[in-house]
Amino acid sequence: MTESIMHTADRVIAATYKRFPIVLQRGKGCNLWDTQGRQYTDFVAGIAVCNLGHAHPRIAETIARQAGELVHVSNLYYTIPQTELARLLTENCFADRVFFGNSGAEANEAAIKLARKYAKDQGQPERFGIVCMEKSFHGRTMATLSATGQDKIRKGFSPVLEGFSFVPFNDIEALAAAVDDHTCAVLLEPIQGEGGIHPPELGYLTQVRELCDRRGALMILDEIQTGMGRTGKLFAHEHYDVVPDIMTLAKALANGLPIGAMLATEKVAQSFGVGAHASTFGGTPLVTAAALTALTILLEDKVIERAGETGAYFKDALSKLKLRHRCILDVRGQGLLLGMQLDAPADDLIGKLLERGFLVNCVQGDTLRFAPPLIIEKNEINALIRCLDELLP
Ligand SMILES: *Cc1c(COP(=O)(O)O)cnc(C)c1O
Repeated sequence: MTESIMHTADRVIAATYKRFPIVLQRGKGCNLWDTQGRQYTDFVAGIAVCNLGHAHPRIAETIARQAGELVHVSNLYYTIPQTELARLLTENCFADRVFFGNSGAEANEAAIKLARKYAKDQGQPERFGIVCMEKSFHGRTMATLSATGQDKIRKGFSPVLEGFSFVPFNDIEALAAAVDDHTCAVLLEPIQGEGGIHPPELGYLTQVRELCDRRGALMILDEIQTGMGRTGKLFAHEHYDVVPDIMTLAKALANGLPIGAMLATEKVAQSFGVGAHASTFGGTPLVTAAALTALTILLEDKVIERAGETGAYFKDALSKLKLRHRCILDVRGQGLLLGMQLDAPADDLIGKLLERGFLVNCVQGDTLRFAPPLIIEKNEINALIRCLDELLP
């Protein structure tokens, strides 16, 4: 069965993914099982998506109940779960309004459109430039890949959209030189995820905020990977004492159901009036009900504080490992978004970890990314560390 599924998938599904040779069938908490009955501890969490783990009983119950009540109607009508979710989100961050889409890329598309429209509405049509970061990742649609500072992602799709420029992350001087009268926004991740888990240097995000204010540009934070408790705060920017004008969310927002959200202050959100933007599926009752339950659990069950503590423990353990293995060049990250950079490609190690029952993935070829469910236990981390200690030269 397993072989035939892999064989068929490789024949009938677009070959855009290089897949690991297992067929996953079932999950519970931080564990997954494949079709052969083998168990894995999940340090990927669907790429920072399943923050509350797999098959969470309260989320499963919400999905089942909502599926039996109302799945979809259209944004031509009000619904309760969408309204409640937007209310809970805005009560817990700087933003006043939310636009719902279905993915991270769509959330960023909405942010890019809103920033340009806002400049036009301010009587500054020449302000359409968006300054982005090298090594950033914002998605795979045409606008979001145009905002992504990685050649390998843009390659083959030219011409990309006009108006996007790039500066190195953590270089405020380069940013100051790039932001001008044609800039409507600076777009960045508070901690770069796909780019290799790069946190901001002390004071950098505050300097970005001040620069945006001085030059009349909006600050857009892509918290798609860092949001929803991943770093030990509900949103990563809370660590750095900055408030953006626009923030995008997706990944963990509904713990696995597809959702994207673009949040903005009232002043900026004014530019998204009737007809300015839309999405058929954006914010359906089914998905927003799941997100509402997920967010409620995050806020009520001390999951976020726990993620901060477990993350610090995990990072410390990785740093100790670094002292024993010279092939580890760096350990980076915040909360349960951690990266361990090696002096060589990490594929081999990741394959061996899989054989030993640990799902880990890698970014930029040489950096292991650890993004387990936020409910991961210390003993599960200890088991991974012991395994890494054995496998690393
Ligand atoms: C995953 C990710 C995206 C894209 O999200 P999709 O749902 O795959 O479109 C955008 N930005 C960041 C920071 C991400 O991690």
